Amino acid sequence: MQFVSRADRGAPQPKAPFTRIDVTRGVKIHYEGTAVPADLAGPDQHHRCAGRVNAIEASHMADRNEGWISIAYTAVVCPHSVVFEGRGAHVKNGANGGSSLNAAHYAVCAMVGDSGLTEPTEAMLHGLRDAVEWLQRDGGAGPEIKGHRDGYATSCPGGPLYAWVQAGAPRPGSTAPAPAPTPTPPPSGPDWPGVYLRATTHHEAARIWQQRMRDRGWQIDVDGWFGPASAEVARRFQAEKSLQPVDGIVGPVTWAAAWTAPVTN
Ligand SMILES: [Zn+2]
Ligand SMILES: [Zn+2]
Repeated sequence: MQFVSRADRGAPQPKAPFTRIDVTRGVKIHYEGTAVPADLAGPDQHHRCAGRVNAIEASHMADRNEGWISIAYTAVVCPHSVVFEGRGAHVKNGANGGSSLNAAHYAVCAMVGDSGLTEPTEAMLHGLRDAVEWLQRDGGAGPEIKGHRDGYATSCPGGPLYAWVQAGAPRPGSTAPAPAPTPTPPPSGPDWPGVYLRATTHHEAARIWQQRMRDRGWQIDVDGWFGPASAEVARRFQAEKSLQPVDGIVGPVTWAAAWTAPVTN
């Protein structure tokens, strides 16, 4: 895979921290949906591509209606098969049409439009496959490859690209659609340590649970002291995940959920 990172293309700092995600069901394919110059696909035109990605990012960040903190896409693939990092792996995107849609699939945009360059080049299809396989390998993406229009009212990713998606998004030259990757095993965490964490408990297990909750995005001190503040986090977590009872005590169920329940964004 030919990959250009955010740093490589001089991407600006996002306006707010990215939202981390562990896994997705797969990837949704997008197109630019506007005019893309037909001559961009020329073999000697790749020098224009990084600037084009940066221009997409600038327009997204200037979009007051959407309020995007950076480019909305996970990645953008150019006609020369290069994968440009957008928000990147393990980051929630802003392109699929809503918060839950954005958390469910990554968003990879191809540099084709609704006029000019409307058909993906063969190199671009290789790049799209490279991006999908990268996200499956390094981003916790599941096997689904869909179009933006799957689950949202839009023409994106346009007829030609959507036909490729529906054919199983095959790598050009391959005789059969790529086999689905081995499903990701269900998440699991460390065994419950056998001690109920309640205010106030001082225990190494409290530190492990606090660290896990912090990794999930909760504001919590990681000090091994399970006091009233930790109990409050436990209570809110239990309520959010519909665990019973909501008592602020970390027993085996609340302990396990810290590793197995999906992270809410
Ligand atoms: Zn789209
Ligand atoms: Zn290019």
